Parts: sequence; C-alpha cells; structure tokens
Amino acid sequence: MYRNVNALIVCQISDIIMSRQMHARRLEGIDKNIWVEFTQLAADYQAVNLGQGFPDFAPPKFLQEAFCKAVSGGGLMHQYTRAFGHPSLVTILAQLFGRLVGHEIQPLEDVLVTIGAYQALFCTFQALVDEGDEVIIIEPFFDCYQPMVKMAGGKQVYMPLRPRGGSNLSSGDWVLCAEELASKFTAKTKAIVINTPNNPTGKVYKTEELQVIADLCIKHDVVCISDEVYEWLTYDGAKHVKIASLAGMWERTVTIGSAGKTFSATGLKVGWAIGPSRLIKHLKTVHQNSIYHCPTAAQVRTTLPFLECLFSVVLSR
Ligand code: PMP
Repeated sequence: MYRNVNALIVCQISDIIMSRQMHARRLEGIDKNIWVEFTQLAADYQAVNLGQGFPDFAPPKFLQEAFCKAVSGGGLMHQYTRAFGHPSLVTILAQLFGRLVGHEIQPLEDVLVTIGAYQALFCTFQALVDEGDEVIIIEPFFDCYQPMVKMAGGKQVYMPLRPRGGSNLSSGDWVLCAEELASKFTAKTKAIVINTPNNPTGKVYKTEELQVIADLCIKHDVVCISDEVYEWLTYDGAKHVKIASLAGMWERTVTIGSAGKTFSATGLKVGWAIGPSRLIKHLKTVHQNSIYHCPTAAQVRTTLPFLECLFSVVLSR
C-alpha cells in the first residue's frame, strides 16, 4: 500500500499527532455563531440579510470629518497608544457618563476602551466570572452572553421576560416577575446581565424595574453587567435610565457602551466598560493580556463626536 518504508513511518506519525485533541475544552458547544451563519447564508443565496443590523445610511457628517482629522493628525495617530484608552477619549467618556450617572468618574481608573462593546463584554465575563459561578441572563438576550459566560467557566441561569397579557403587546408589556427573579439568586450567583434598551425586543427598562434588580443585587452582593449600547435610541417618550445611577449600584455595576451604535457606524468598533476601579482593574488585566490596546485613530476619531454629546447633555439639563 505504501510506496516505501519512510512514507509508512511519516503517515503513522501524522496519524498519531492528528488523533490528539486539538481544541481547548472550554470551546466545546460554542463553535456555532448565528451571525457568521446568517451572513454566509445571505451571501450564498443572495438574500437580504435581516439578521445582522446596521444602518443603510451614511453616519453623520461630523463623525466622518472627525475620522479625516484623526487619520491626518500626524505620526502619533498611527502608533501605539495608552493600553486602556486614549487619554482624550477616556476623559470625555468620564465627563459625559459622570453627568449621566451622577457620580464622579475617574478617566484613568474607571474607564476601559475596548474593540466594540463585544470586547467589553468579553473582558467583563473573563475578568469577573469564575469556574462554577452562576450568571443570571434575562431572556430574550443578545446571543453572545451565553457563550461568553460558558467560556469563562460560568453557568447561565435564565430568567424570562413574560408578557403582561392582553392584545397589542408592546415591548414594555414584557416584564420581569419580581418573585421569579428573586428565586434565581443563589449563593453561587456572581452576576446578572441586563440589556436596556433591549436587543431584540426594544424594551426600555423603567426605573421601578431596575430598582427590583438593584435591590436583589445589593441583597445578594452580586455584580450587574449592564449592556446599554442602544442608550441613545429611545422613542415615543421612553427614557433610558442607567442602573448605575441608582443608590448603591455604581459600586457593583459595569456599564457597557458602543460608539458604533451611538453614531450609526457599526464598523467603528470602539466600545467601553465603565465602573468602579475595583471591578474595572480586573477587566484591564484581561485586556492587557489579549489585545493590549485599541486602534489609536479610531479612538481619537470618536472623541470629538462625544464632546458634542456632552455639550447637548449639559445644555439639556
Ligand atoms: N450588545 C448588544 C445588545 C448588541 O446588539 C451589540 C451589537 N449588535 C453589541 C453588544 C456589540 O456592539 P459592538 O458592535 O460595539 O461590538
């Protein structure tokens, strides 16, 4: 069968090497990704891709101008920058969100700039969830929470939003049952993930609903991971409230945001995690040992637009 003995030996060695398990066990069960699959199917069948949402209009002019300024802004724009966020960006984020949360935010301590909200979520789960920890996830949820919790060694505990009843339901009619939520907290609960405004329902949590979650987090000494990437996209008078602004919650909340969502430019991939330094410092450990820092020009590019946001927030109060 084999042409010579050497070929036989090579073949047998490669059989031995290839039969060894190559993947790390933590990847088991998370190899499928709905967005990868959807995008491929849409491309294969030339279908309209309604799976992955991004605007089909150009981002605002001021964002495009800021980009041109950043990339033509001299040699340093093309070099490494501070690991945890360009000083100009973390400063403006701290000022803007400090006002919104009602808490003085230290730009160099309490803010971590990441590659999109996705990486902020990844750093948060890797940094705070330990083997065997339980993480409460409110259903329906943005898909990546589940594999990220699993990859960190945690166990997902699901808590469904339930319809209030009646016809013509809107997203606000999908609510949490306080008793049911309370029953999900155990001695092993490390964190709860909330997403407001919610993807996919569009639900914007009311202060009373956030207060129920906050009370349980405080009672059980649990961290709240609050994904607020759609915070500026509210309609019909709905008001976005940050759970970190409720009494006792700044200390235990990691708030996650996205410049891509904020400025209708999903390819920007600039995100952040904001919270008390005692939590954020652990996210920084993951960050410095994985990507180290985010592209410099992309960060500088988003500083000016956020300055404009800050002005409008200040003016509206
Ligand atoms: N969280 C939610 C709820 C999202 O919908 C998305 C993107 N679809 C992200 C996080 C990731 O945001 P980014 O593009 O900034 O990584």
